[in-house]
Amino acid sequence: MFRKIILNSNPILRKKCKAVNKIDPEIRKLIADMEDTMYENNGAGLAAIQVGVLKRVIVVDTSIDKNELLILINPKIIEKKGQIIWQEACLSVPGFEGTVKRYDYIKVKAKDKQFKDIIVEGEGYLAVALQHEIDHLDGILYIDRVEDDTLKSVNAEDEHAI
Ligand SMILES: [Zn+2]
Repeated sequence: MFRKIILNSNPILRKKCKAVNKIDPEIRKLIADMEDTMYENNGAGLAAIQVGVLKRVIVVDTSIDKNELLILINPKIIEKKGQIIWQEACLSVPGFEGTVKRYDYIKVKAKDKQFKDIIVEGEGYLAVALQHEIDHLDGILYIDRVEDDTLKSVNAEDEHAI
């Protein structure tokens, strides 16, 4: 089921999300709805807070064929290196993109949807998307990190928002 994406004018997006303690039907439904909502909007990632749920859950899929879904609960960056400059856009900030400096490689510890420990490594676009989504869980938007004067309006159809 699709859920409505919250836009950046809404102060909810500035809240800090709470850790998930267990998998229950509500979390399972949230994850399924987040998958539907991300793919429906051609997004490469979505955080629960973007559908108004203040829990530390993200979904990410940066593959071209949209067949490499990652579901991460309570994600935490445990290693990072390098630097990458990326044009970012966000489903909660429609019609804009801007240049952000991120780590080029990160290693993330999280729980999967069975609540088992997992480690995910990301480079390039995947690393960017993971950092963008994990920022959402702490109320941070990419527009907070954008390089000076690089935020610009774009045709919404050209976006690969995260
Ligand atoms: Zn975003």
